[in-house]
Amino acid sequence: MKERRTRASRGVTRREFVKAGAGGAALLSTGIARPARGAPAVQSSGPKPLVISSGNGNRYKNGGDEVVVERAFRLMTEGKDILESLIAGVEITELDPGDASVGYGGRPNADGVVQLDSCCMHGPNRRAGGVAGLEGVRTPAAVAYQVLQVTDHHLLVGKGAQNFARNMGFEIEDDLNTPRSREMWLEWKRRIDPGHYLDPKKRAEAGHAAGLSMVRDGFMDEEEYYGTINCDGLNANGDLAGVTTTSGLAWKIPGRVGDSPILGAGLYVDNEVGAAGSTGRGEANLYGLCSFHIVEEMRRGAHPKDAAMTALSRVKDNTVEKRLLNSRGLPNFGLSFYVVNKAGEYAGVSMYTSERSTFALCTENGPESVAMEPFLEGSPSD
Ligand code: ASP
Repeated sequence: MKERRTRASRGVTRREFVKAGAGGAALLSTGIARPARGAPAVQSSGPKPLVISSGNGNRYKNGGDEVVVERAFRLMTEGKDILESLIAGVEITELDPGDASVGYGGRPNADGVVQLDSCCMHGPNRRAGGVAGLEGVRTPAAVAYQVLQVTDHHLLVGKGAQNFARNMGFEIEDDLNTPRSREMWLEWKRRIDPGHYLDPKKRAEAGHAAGLSMVRDGFMDEEEYYGTINCDGLNANGDLAGVTTTSGLAWKIPGRVGDSPILGAGLYVDNEVGAAGSTGRGEANLYGLCSFHIVEEMRRGAHPKDAAMTALSRVKDNTVEKRLLNSRGLPNFGLSFYVVNKAGEYAGVSMYTSERSTFALCTENGPESVAMEPFLEGSPSD
């Protein structure tokens, strides 16, 4: 597969990259590296270690000096266990109140309670752990890792997950809202007129419409309305691991669990093949178990980008309900995958992209934001 390298990833030092971000020729002013026109979308970094994640993996630092993919890459290349390195990385977004879609300060459910989902998978050990609907713990990925390490199970939910976390020594807090997440929830509540719960279908539609109207009115970015972090790594031994952690869909029905903590949906890792994880409309991903599908496509020899495109094509074909289609008869929602194979080839692919759709990548050249590849042209609302 031909290599597609941005200038930022072609041996520019980290310092040069950071400097170039302000206006370097190869980078847009946003600091986003984009493929040259006509260049193959597929990216290949050879067998060198790398960490790939959703775009927020190169955005938040929680007051420190490293972004998620940078910390994970550093720890991994210093010899720390690959999955522990990724979990230490995503903890930055989990703890950073600025990321309103993950961990502390994540979007609460419709009752104003933050319920978190996560799963993680260790390629070499062939083990995985997950938690769903977890309340009161800022770092669900670390709890998912405890499920992997000390139990014979994969998934703990709700009160049971919280009791487990308490027993493992995690601090349980009354409320993971921040002033900002509560303020957004109150605005949403105001928009759906909570005094008059409509029939469930109308309520769901009203809730979704209120969320989108808040995006349009500039209360938050679309990425925050959805939003999650998936982070996957390949180390110098050729071992793979992944982790996904989220507060789930903004203002979800209490108890709703999406794709993030479900193996095969929000994440899947096969140490002999590759890793894939997701952000976006969890329900669409769950129907297709897309992360598993993508890994199976790669097992058959597909490149990460082609594997993700195949999964998105299946999602498109399976989307038949009118409420989920736009005026062109195409899905009216976003769904993205971050994929790496054992050879170090990787891709970030989305149902749709906009100028701001990026994934995060860290190699020996430091962290960068790379444009996602679209499966469909246009936007979900066209
Ligand atoms: N996939 C997550 C969920 O459905 C949310 C997201 O990534 O936007 O819970």
